Amino acid sequence: MSKLILRVAICCIILSVSSNAQSTGARIIALKCGRLIDGKAAQARENVTILIENNIIKEVGAAVSIPANAEIIDLSNATVLPGLIDCHTHVLLQGDITAEDYAQQILKESIPYRALRAAAACNRSLLNGFTTLRDLGTEGAMYADVDLKKAIANKLVDGPRLFVAGRAINTTGHYLLSNKEYAWELKLPKGLIEITGVDEARKAVREEISYGADWIKVYADRGYYRLPDGSFRSLANFTVDEMNAIGDEARMHRKKIAAHAVTRDGILYAINAGASTIEHGFALDEECIKTMVSKGIYWCPTIFVNVYVAEGRAAAGNPINKLLLEALPETFSKAHKAGVKIAFGTDAGGFSWDENQAKEFSYMVKWGMTPMEAIQSATTIAAELLDMKGKIGEISAGALADIIAVQGNPLTDIAVLESVQFVMKDGNIVKR
Ligand SMILES: [Zn+2]
Repeated sequence: MSKLILRVAICCIILSVSSNAQSTGARIIALKCGRLIDGKAAQARENVTILIENNIIKEVGAAVSIPANAEIIDLSNATVLPGLIDCHTHVLLQGDITAEDYAQQILKESIPYRALRAAAACNRSLLNGFTTLRDLGTEGAMYADVDLKKAIANKLVDGPRLFVAGRAINTTGHYLLSNKEYAWELKLPKGLIEITGVDEARKAVREEISYGADWIKVYADRGYYRLPDGSFRSLANFTVDEMNAIGDEARMHRKKIAAHAVTRDGILYAINAGASTIEHGFALDEECIKTMVSKGIYWCPTIFVNVYVAEGRAAAGNPINKLLLEALPETFSKAHKAGVKIAFGTDAGGFSWDENQAKEFSYMVKWGMTPMEAIQSATTIAAELLDMKGKIGEISAGALADIIAVQGNPLTDIAVLESVQFVMKDGNIVKR
């Protein structure tokens, strides 16, 4: 074929593709919003229209011209927001106040059964307005989160878009199930990968990535206790060399680390090894706060899970969560005032999926955030944490059409986010 004929042929193919798109017609939706909180602007806007083509937001404004073939959805008496993002969940877990609750799931439920329960949890979360989750560890269900992510992406089941961590990493003997509580000759299933030494640390990260983990989750500390001066301490799980090996290996594969770390003993060495997000961090002290601000480290405070487990664990003889919870309002307020990047993360799954994870918002506002800051922690800040800025967590031209609506005004009553009335994910309406 001569070059000229080839060019004509290519032009014909392009023309036929574009005329096909016109004739089959993209799905156009115009959402009329009474009030819009777009995730980015400091103020809400009134009477705005969002124009959506397939799964992409094309235009947002007061004077959007609506094409004749658009489906019009009237949300003029509602507040419209970006789909919510929870940066810390466990869809394969169904609440574990006590070690027995945890063992019940690990020992008595097969991984396929747990995956089915996880699909139901995902569905529930989506209907509550959460269109994206970062799921931080399957708690013994191996890489079922990777399957679930695939099933959702392939539209086999409805659920939030998932970023997954596969199996979390800890050191030998420091996680459930524990042989201290069972006959020592039993080979017990574990809730994660256990490693000892630098080579195993590297191997675990490589395995995670080869099976499809988007994030590397580590358990940096355990064994929390309070000193007479009221400060909290813990035991570091890894040696510095092991933690640095995990950090180095993750960096080599361009993956980020989420570190479960409650006190300075876990937080500081995890950050030094390269952790991007601190999970729980209930006992952040001045130095942790300063380090996190200067290095731009995110904090997922997971308040509601602590509220959920504190009393039950205290009744079972372990009062540490209750003590940490008592100190948390002041810690939260200090970290917020100092400018730590606080991303919405609840640890849902650590509490039952029957509870709405949006309950977290009320605590954030009660302890010092404005409602707009709390909303942005679950939209634009969370999107930034996930390296998805501009794609999710905001309602603006070019972003994916993840959109929710509530009755009432969350800027005057944040609890209305616990009753989401309308959910669109990726341009598909899943609740109306
Ligand atoms: Zn967790």
